[in-house]
Amino acid sequence: MAVLPIYTYDHPILREPATPVKDITGEVAAFVESMITTMHNADGIGLAANQVGDSRAITTIDVSELEECAGLPPMVLINPVITAFSEDTVEYEEGCLSLPTLRDKVVRPKSIQLRFYDLQQHEHSLEIDGFLARVIQHEVDHLRGKYFFEYLNPVRRAMAHPTLRRIQLGQVATSYPLYDPRKHVAHKQSLKKLAHKRGK
Ligand code: ZN
Repeated sequence: MAVLPIYTYDHPILREPATPVKDITGEVAAFVESMITTMHNADGIGLAANQVGDSRAITTIDVSELEECAGLPPMVLINPVITAFSEDTVEYEEGCLSLPTLRDKVVRPKSIQLRFYDLQQHEHSLEIDGFLARVIQHEVDHLRGKYFFEYLNPVRRAMAHPTLRRIQLGQVATSYPLYDPRKHVAHKQSLKKLAHKRGK
């Protein structure tokens, strides 16, 4: 399956709320395979579909590297909804494949009640806590158009600004392919030129 380029701050698709998946087809399953390949290739523990330029409400998660989750196969959450959050919160450092080099501590509810569909079209409602609950909250936020740095206090957020600017300008190096909007624009322009020539 293909490794897809990852979209970074501040591409508009990362700000848009995801569209629910209506039919869980073979095409959705194939796309999910590519998402898992992309996530593993980037050494990521979670990936939302809009991070690879697709606006559907799908996220993949793999926390099997963690001792408490060892052996757990990658999770596929289709149309995930968090229906309840615990009052207890935990602070923990987060990073994001769409925000390379930015890391900061984020306070989040410790446990959640999650509803989602799997690839076999089965609906699940689970109570999840600990690290997995954090990763799911981070990914479901992506599907709502939200980044983890939005939880930082104004001081920390201001401190993150230069890093965000570098990411925006494409001045970060990653071990995984990033989507380059400038290339995309160039491609579109050359297509336009071609169409124009053909028209004449
Ligand atoms: Zn992320």
